[in-house]
Amino acid sequence: MDVQQTSRFTVTRNSRAVAADQRAVLLEDPGFGRIHTDHMVTIRYTEGQGWHSAALGPREPFLLDPACAVLHYAQEIFEGMKAYRLADGSIAMFRPEENARRFNESAHRMAMPPIPEDLFLEAVEQLAKIDAGWIPGGEGSLYMRPFMFASEAFLGVRPANEYIFCVIASPAGAYFKGGKKAVSLWVSEHYTRAAPGGTGAAKCGGNYAASLIAQAEASKHGCDQVVFLDAAEHKWVEELGGMNIFFVMEDGAIVTPPLGTILPGITRDSIMTLARAKGHDVREEPYSFAQWRADAASGRLREAFACGTAAVVTPIGTVKSVEGDFTIGNGDGGMVTESLRVDLTGIQRGTVADPANWVHRL
Ligand SMILES: *Cc1c(COP(=O)(O)O)cnc(C)c1O
Repeated sequence: MDVQQTSRFTVTRNSRAVAADQRAVLLEDPGFGRIHTDHMVTIRYTEGQGWHSAALGPREPFLLDPACAVLHYAQEIFEGMKAYRLADGSIAMFRPEENARRFNESAHRMAMPPIPEDLFLEAVEQLAKIDAGWIPGGEGSLYMRPFMFASEAFLGVRPANEYIFCVIASPAGAYFKGGKKAVSLWVSEHYTRAAPGGTGAAKCGGNYAASLIAQAEASKHGCDQVVFLDAAEHKWVEELGGMNIFFVMEDGAIVTPPLGTILPGITRDSIMTLARAKGHDVREEPYSFAQWRADAASGRLREAFACGTAAVVTPIGTVKSVEGDFTIGNGDGGMVTESLRVDLTGIQRGTVADPANWVHRL
């Protein structure tokens, strides 16, 4: 086997990597999250010893003890980020240091050990480089999934003493089938996603587990995504199952729910910066479902869109709830949404100026 020791990682190339011609076929229509690359990173943590045994090696299953803590108490966090192939052939990532920082904030909330940010970044970069052949061309990207879970075999209830940090990668096409088409939302008036003091701001698997029944309800009503209201009053719009939400008003003001119980999206933050640079009055303030419906009816609300790493910027066309349905604008997105999407994807792809140095070339 071809094993190498770099500064911090033991590198083992996958001798059974997918052949280039087979890979090319898979990359023609990768979809999202169903195809996986040849390698993975693993780094172990042991209380008293810290992070150790960093390895970049063939992607393979974990062997877990049935008492493994994550299987019982869900001590798990993750990140989602993308590697892009730029026009000049180089590989770039978008604000990866923000993912590293947020990962440690999630770790803190879930009583897990922080991982040094430079180690997190090196892990992601090493994987993107060794699996660079898996980055699709065109509008595709390589979706990178760093995650960490409690690996200690122990059924007592306390923070675990052992963890595994891992990064896997998956080539991705457009997240929503049909590209930039507007999506429909189902307003969950029964289920909530996050409560004050809870884990809403942490990127943990448990939040997703709790959201799936509401997402299934959305699908049952023919909607693409669920939108959650706040847990205390069931009144204020929070976010989608895995995306933040923005509202564009007739006077050009842009409103997005404030941080607290929502996930602090890096796309959300970037959109706010880009919109302010374009002269929009961007406000992080509570927006109620009742106001949303009234503003859509009166025409005060012109556009709404969802955003996140996976789906980038996606217009919202229709909203359905037990109280009835409504359409935003012409139901097909709008110019402000589109111009923000073009700006953001242009920066990510290296075709639009990047004044804030968001693009990190590997
Ligand atoms: C990851 C995530 C987002 C989007 O965050 P980005 O950093 O923009 O990808 C929004 N909401 C939830 C619940 C998420 O998990």
